[in-house]
Amino acid sequence: MTGPSILDTLADLAMCLTAAVVLVLTLVALYRSNLKRHPYTDCRRCQGTGERRSRLFAHSYGYCPDCTGTGRRTRLGVRLFNIR
Ligand SMILES: [Zn+2]
Repeated sequence: MTGPSILDTLADLAMCLTAAVVLVLTLVALYRSNLKRHPYTDCRRCQGTGERRSRLFAHSYGYCPDCTGTGRRTRLGVRLFNIR
């Protein structure tokens, strides 16, 4: 009784690794194209309104310092991959 040879095992391993690498590259490419099309997300701190309410005076508000009043921020992937 002999098991599978070492070469068969290595060939299977190489096949699996290649499939995994191709899958990961495809997913990264899709994510990048998605970031290119939709680079912005709502600012978390002001929920996309661009303004911050005062805690002390109910009717006073100012621009959100995180998004400078735009209400949107660049997504993490855009900053990570430096996509324009
Ligand atoms: Zn904001």
